[in-house]
Amino acid sequence: MAEELEDLGRRVARRFIVRGVASRPSHLAGEMGVQVTYEQSPPAAQPRLRSEYRADPPRILLYRDPIEELAAAIHADQRFDMMRCDLAEVHIAHELFHHLESGGRFGPLTAEEVEAAAHGFAQELMALDFHPAEFSRLLG
Ligand SMILES: [Zn+2]
Repeated sequence: MAEELEDLGRRVARRFIVRGVASRPSHLAGEMGVQVTYEQSPPAAQPRLRSEYRADPPRILLYRDPIEELAAAIHADQRFDMMRCDLAEVHIAHELFHHLESGGRFGPLTAEEVEAAAHGFAQELMALDFHPAEFSRLLG
């Protein structure tokens, strides 16, 4: 099931890849009227939250401290595949799927299913060689 949903995310991402060139997630967010803002730290209840999507008005919040913690873990682990990617853009891509999905546009999905699809979307749009869920595993 998770695999089917990752495929759904990938298919949606392909709408934004024209002749092999993917739109930059931050650019897409602007086009879709989704504001992207940075904050230093996440809400106290979710200290490891790196990003989130909020509707009304649609916006993506990126949290610098946990993203920097991830960057440090990537370097410590010498994950050269991950070092090549723009972490902020990967997180914006993931949250953009939440925006596209908001209102249940792809049918009724559980939170886990939406996560799987959002990972597939980000992986395809950013042409990642690794699965985005590996970020969380890297942090232990
Ligand atoms: Zn998510």
